[in-house]
Amino acid sequence: MNHVNTERLFHAFPALYRDRTAPITQSLMAFGFECGDGWVELLYNLSQALTEHSGKAGLDIVATQVKEKWGELVVYADGADDEAYRLIEDAREASATICEVCGAPGRLYTWGWRQTRCTEHAPDGPASSRHFH
Ligand SMILES: [Zn+2]
Repeated sequence: MNHVNTERLFHAFPALYRDRTAPITQSLMAFGFECGDGWVELLYNLSQALTEHSGKAGLDIVATQVKEKWGELVVYADGADDEAYRLIEDAREASATICEVCGAPGRLYTWGWRQTRCTEHAPDGPASSRHFH
């Protein structure tokens, strides 16, 4: 994820992402968000939901790693409860319908490796060139 989007999330949710300055022996958040920029809105909404839930439930949720894994958004957190894990799981499921590159509607492609992409960013190239014969 690019610097601007990374800083936007870090600044909007300082408590959730406070481990961004922790040593990597303690948290992997120092690596930032290890996924494409297409998921920034999804991550923003998830971060907001987790922060609100954290406050209401009296929890102290801290993200320890955010990354793309097998084509989907995976978030690891400390201090989460069942509801928080449900929010994280919902975001993982939603990520499989959003292009990781640009945020357009997409689907999970599973040949060779798993990536969620729109037709434009599909592993075999834009749909237009696919049909050019
Ligand atoms: Zn795309």
